[in-house]
Amino acid sequence: MAHDVNRQVRLAARPTGTPGPDVWEHTIEPVPEPGAGRLVVEVSHISLDPAMRGWMNAGRSYVPPVEVGAVMRALGVGTVLASRHPDFEAGDVVTGMLGVQTHAESDGSGLQKVRPSEAAPPERHLSVLGMTGMTAYFGLFDVGALQEGDTVVVSAAAGAVGSIVGQLAKTRGARVIGIAGGPEKCAWIVDELGFDAAIDHRSQDVRTELRTHAPDGVDVYFDNVGGDILDAVLTRLARGARVVICGAISQYNETTAPQGPANYLSLLVNRARMQGFVVFDYADRYGEAAAELADLLAQGRIHSREDVVDGTVDDFPEALLRLFRGENTGKLVLRLQAA
Ligand code: NAP
Repeated sequence: MAHDVNRQVRLAARPTGTPGPDVWEHTIEPVPEPGAGRLVVEVSHISLDPAMRGWMNAGRSYVPPVEVGAVMRALGVGTVLASRHPDFEAGDVVTGMLGVQTHAESDGSGLQKVRPSEAAPPERHLSVLGMTGMTAYFGLFDVGALQEGDTVVVSAAAGAVGSIVGQLAKTRGARVIGIAGGPEKCAWIVDELGFDAAIDHRSQDVRTELRTHAPDGVDVYFDNVGGDILDAVLTRLARGARVVICGAISQYNETTAPQGPANYLSLLVNRARMQGFVVFDYADRYGEAAAELADLLAQGRIHSREDVVDGTVDDFPEALLRLFRGENTGKLVLRLQAA
C-alpha cells in the first residue's frame, strides 16, 4: 500500500433513501506526520455496518451525525505506521473508529491493541471479537434475559449479529429459529451453525411458519430488521416474552416514517416487554463478553464467518449496499488492497 497518500471517502451530501454515488466524495491527502501524543494508523480492514446509514442522517441519535464533508465514520483494523503516543508503537495492530480512509491520525482514544492470529484474523476483530459479538452477547443475555429452555427467534439470522445470537442461545440450552433470506442462508444456519429451524422470509410466510416451529410461542425475539417481520413475530409471543430491538434494517432506507408495529398489543396480552439497546453502553463490560466469546470459539462451540470483500476505499459505497440487498453471509468487511 502506498504510504505517501491518504485516500478517503467523505460524506458529500445527506442521502434520501438508498445512498447513491452522489452522496460520496473521494479525496486524496498527504499522509500526516503524527503530532505530539498522536499516532498514524495504516488501515487494512473496514467494517461495513447497517448503522452507517443512520450515522449519515441529520438529527438526534445515540451518536452525532457524520458531518457533511467529513470522512465517513467506520470501525476498522490497521497497523500503527508512526507513533508519538506513549501507549502505541509502530507495528502495533489496533482496532477502533478509523474511518473510511487508508490512513487515520488519532490521539489514541477508543483504539484498542489486538493480536491477530490464525484463529483470530484481523477481520474477526470486527466480527465476533468486536462490536458484532458484543452486540449479540449483551442484547441476548442482558436485554433478552435468556433462560435455559427458551424459544428464541432471531431475524437477519445469517448476518453478522444474528448468526452469533443464534449460536450463543444454543450454548445456553435454548431452542433457536432463525429468519433469513434465501435457501442457502437457511441451510447454513441449520446445517453449519446448529439452529433448530430456519424460515426463509423471501419465500415463506413468517407467521405461518412460526406456528409450526414455535407452537408454544416465542420467549425471546431478537429483532434486527423491524417492519413486517417484527409484526409477524409479535403475533406469536409467549407469556412474559422479551422483544430485543437491536436494529431495523428494513426501515433504514425508507423515505417515509418507519413502519410501527401494528401488533404491539400482543405485549399487553402476553405481559411481554420490548426494549431497545445500544451496544456502546456496555463498553465497560466488553472484556467479559470478549473472553467468553473467544473461549466458545476456541472450543468450537460457536463459529464465525466473515464475508470479506477485497477492494480499495473507493469500493466502500458499493460494498455498503450489499447489506441492504442481503448479499452478505456473516460479517461484511472491506479488506483494503493497494490502490
Ligand atoms: P447483517 O445482519 O450482517 O446484514 C444485514 C442483513 O439484513 C442482510 O444480509 C439481510 O439478510 C437483512 N436485510 C436487509 N434488508 C432487509 C429487509 N428489508 N428485510 C429483512 N431483512 C433485511 O448486519 P449486522 O451488522 O449484523 O446488523 C444487524 C442489525 O443489528 C442491524 O439492524 C444493525 O443496525 C443492528 N445493530 C445494532 C447494534 C446496537 O447497538 N443496537 C449494534 C450493531 C448492529 P437476509 O438476506 O437474511 O434478509
